[in-house]
Amino acid sequence: MPSELDDVKYQVAVANRVLAETGLATGVTASFGHASMRLPSDPGRFAIKGRGYELDVLERMRPQDMVVCDLDGRKVDGAPGLTPCYEIKMHSCIYKVRPDVQAVVHVHPRFTVVMSVLQETLVPMCPEGIDLVRHPLPVYPHNKLILTEEDGMEVATELGGHKAVLLLGHGAATTGADLTEAVMNMYHLEEQARMNWYACCAAGPQHRRIPEELIAESDNRTAIHELPHLKELFGGVPPPPNNGVYLHYADLVSRDL
Ligand SMILES: [Zn+2]
Repeated sequence: MPSELDDVKYQVAVANRVLAETGLATGVTASFGHASMRLPSDPGRFAIKGRGYELDVLERMRPQDMVVCDLDGRKVDGAPGLTPCYEIKMHSCIYKVRPDVQAVVHVHPRFTVVMSVLQETLVPMCPEGIDLVRHPLPVYPHNKLILTEEDGMEVATELGGHKAVLLLGHGAATTGADLTEAVMNMYHLEEQARMNWYACCAAGPQHRRIPEELIAESDNRTAIHELPHLKELFGGVPPPPNNGVYLHYADLVSRDL
């Protein structure tokens, strides 16, 4: 049985690899970004990708490459020679002010970045991640790296109770009740940004969006587990969330671990 710490490091290493595999930290951004997760038994500490590796790209992270930090961003565990990532304060400050958040992701996804520079509000353009952009997302109006406690608290304050915050000309941070949710929120955010970019190119900045009333129409439908032809099969109980996309990529990237 792996210890809790070993298990968390494994999960975080896999999440970093998934960010690379899904194109969120690849090519020119292969070395930029990090996933992190709190230790379930010690919410004042979290595991995260660090710095100081011979090959410092998300795609190559292994469990033993992860470092553990406290909520001040200080390294409390990890191999000698490794440091926390430079933007550790983005993670530590979000954990400090959001006790509900169990995992944080930060990357520099291309479409999210370009849309933030254009200062175009992301609007719903496809089902994946529709709730993320149903209302305007908060924007941290600075391009600088998040290096100090003050920087980190500014980002955490801008995030507020949202699941994502955009960092103008830099990237985004997403949160989750677990690693899967934090990573998928980032994947969905980037997909919405890409669809918004396509729409801007095709129809200009005043392009149409999926109207709010159609989203509300979906919200108000009979739950899947209560549909007459499915009710018995589901036993009247809501199905678990569909994590197929994450599990597929997690399986792909973890075959040599
Ligand atoms: Zn960054």
